[in-house]
Amino acid sequence: MAKRKIKVHKSIDKANMKQYEINGIKRSDEYIYFCSVCKKITCLDRSYSSKGHRLICDRCAMIHFPKIDDDTHYRHIDYQALLSWCTEDNQNQSEFADAKQTESNQSTKGD
Ligand SMILES: [Zn+2]
Repeated sequence: MAKRKIKVHKSIDKANMKQYEINGIKRSDEYIYFCSVCKKITCLDRSYSSKGHRLICDRCAMIHFPKIDDDTHYRHIDYQALLSWCTEDNQNQSEFADAKQTESNQSTKGD
């Protein structure tokens, strides 16, 4: 399979990851995220991402990851391709994990 070339806006990608780090899935219905492909405002419920990384709105997902159902001929989203694209080259993921680890390590109580 050929590698997909979808232009991701880096600054939006960063902002989304930060937003996700702060809120997680708590505010999933609030329009506080931006599609990293078309720049339109969206929310977690209407988009796909790897913890905010490569967040893509449902409209873009349908355009870039189409899958035609053999039986119904309906256009669906190819979730498998979408998921592997979202998780691809997410280097910040480990950075976040490291930061959280050092935080929890600071629980030294001396009495
Ligand atoms: Zn979009």
